[in-house]
Amino acid sequence: MSGPILPGATVGVLGSGQLGRMFAIAARRMGYRVHTFSPDDDTPTGQVADREIRGAYDDLDAVRSFAQGVDVVTFEFENVSSAAAEAAAEHAPVRPAGCVLHTTQNRLREKGFLAGAGFPVAPFAAVRSAAELTAALVRLGAPAILKTAGWGYDGKGQVKIAAPEEGDAAWDSLGVRGGDEAVLEAYVDFERELSVVAARGLDGACAHFGVIANDHSRHILDVAVAPAPVRPDTAREAVEIACGVLEELKVVGALCVELFLTRDGRLLVNELAPRPHNSGHLTFDACVTSQFEQQLRAICGLPLGATEMLRPAAMANLLGDLWQGGEPDWVAACRFPEVKLHLYGKATPRPGRKMGHLTALAQSAGEARDRVLAARAALTAGRT
Ligand code: AMP
Repeated sequence: MSGPILPGATVGVLGSGQLGRMFAIAARRMGYRVHTFSPDDDTPTGQVADREIRGAYDDLDAVRSFAQGVDVVTFEFENVSSAAAEAAAEHAPVRPAGCVLHTTQNRLREKGFLAGAGFPVAPFAAVRSAAELTAALVRLGAPAILKTAGWGYDGKGQVKIAAPEEGDAAWDSLGVRGGDEAVLEAYVDFERELSVVAARGLDGACAHFGVIANDHSRHILDVAVAPAPVRPDTAREAVEIACGVLEELKVVGALCVELFLTRDGRLLVNELAPRPHNSGHLTFDACVTSQFEQQLRAICGLPLGATEMLRPAAMANLLGDLWQGGEPDWVAACRFPEVKLHLYGKATPRPGRKMGHLTALAQSAGEARDRVLAARAALTAGRT
């Protein structure tokens, strides 16, 4: 095995959103150069990278030439095709490997992997037609959630089915195209949604950031709090699941496991994201090593950093909706001295679009949550 990729080397990022931006900030701080590749320009990542290269993900020659100019390739956008990951791998190590992407970018493959490896998931069934959906609803029962197998995120491409007779309408509304598959999942009446962000190094070492509690609004993450207020045995089990998944997939890099905690105390894996995650943004301000620096260390073959939390923390997303009555009042948020403002450099604030986030530090997770919500409310409090 070759030695570590050292500061001064160039890291290539496929994708150009806020995850790449925060990764690039961490990488540049440690003296690396960063190139980003995506179909857009003046992107959140491109604004802080050394080079922003514009190209389509399915333009394999463009991906190859991008990979030729860097020492290692990672990604912040996981819906890059296997072909693109393979094209990049002809010229530079791709970490995590394309096979990790392949497993996690399709819900059926992901659930099949999880169930096959013995990780707990809600009952599910593959569905390719309205008739198969009807049959699956008989087996799984209602309520249930029907999701497209590929390319879904933030609750896009999914519909809740309250009663079996709603199956046909749900199938039509999901608009699954010929040949595509969907997955029907039993509806989980959860007490909480949790996540564990972890990283695995080139040497197989695994480091995690503990358990984070997540509240969603309209299927989009709204507030994340760490450490999550859960029992120690629940936290231990969640971390064991996360590290087990990284080991089983032989991930080199960061990965987030999203979990449901059921009302009877069981953990079920909902989804995997083979990269830093929105719920882990608070690690940027609250931990010795952030999830972004950890991703960098892992893909460069460096030892992983300490994940210890310096203070309990909470993160609140800033969606484009906040701009509806005009520019938010940034000064008001800055009046909270223990709140950190992160903006992603996106020009157009559309409803539901992640424009930035706030992180609050405090003596307890509950206090951090109150503080971050107060700071976010202050952004729009002066409006009439
Ligand atoms: P996903 O895109 O799969 O992460 O789903 C987005 C959100 O929808 C989750 O964070 C949950 O709040 C909700 N959700 C997804 N799947 C289920 C399920 N099987 N049961 C209950 N809620 C779900």
